[in-house]
Amino acid sequence: MLKNLINLLYPKLCNGCNSLLLKNEYTICSACIHDLPYTNHHKLEDNDTTKKFYGIIPIEFGGSLFYFHQKGIVQNLVHNLKYRNKQEIGTYLGKLHANELKVLTESKKFTEIIPVPLHPKRLKERGYNQITTYGMALSTELNIPYNPTLLFRNRYSKTQTKKDREKRKEVSNSLFDVTFSEKDHNQHFLLIDDVITSGATLEACAKALLKIPNSKVSIVTIAYTLS
Ligand SMILES: [Zn+2]
Repeated sequence: MLKNLINLLYPKLCNGCNSLLLKNEYTICSACIHDLPYTNHHKLEDNDTTKKFYGIIPIEFGGSLFYFHQKGIVQNLVHNLKYRNKQEIGTYLGKLHANELKVLTESKKFTEIIPVPLHPKRLKERGYNQITTYGMALSTELNIPYNPTLLFRNRYSKTQTKKDREKRKEVSNSLFDVTFSEKDHNQHFLLIDDVITSGATLEACAKALLKIPNSKVSIVTIAYTLS
């Protein structure tokens, strides 16, 4: 009775198109599920996401689940996940992506899932990293440990001056870093993020991870921006 009343007052809406969800629908409506723009990157190693890193940084595999279109379903999903605390979307998409990545996981032997760290200030404002639930779902479904502490974001230096150009360059180059011990050697890290646009953030993260002896990096994201 109370549940019915709550549903009446706060009807559940599709996170992709805002239409009312039916009783048997959860998070995303059937119409949106039907229209999701899959990239099928897992079937083609030489895909757009992998190509972003050609000649820049060696990665083993790159792949995104969906194409990101302005004003499309995926943009709404990412927006609701990122800014409206709809963390269940991450779980949903993580499960979908895990399904695609099962075969690759067996051949590539990923050993740890590493999320791109959120800036501490953002984390404080938002209260959560938007890719945590996505990463946790990948971790559960693919049976790969989730490690959110290995890679971290350096705080911006407050002492930057015009004279310090070289130093500043160094700071921007080391926006991300790793804290590791011997147990972190010889790993194949699966680095994850929500959307890949220029790939600059992921590149900086991968560079930091590759400082660990005998490590390999693969990259997966929820969405790929066509630009
Ligand atoms: Zn929908």
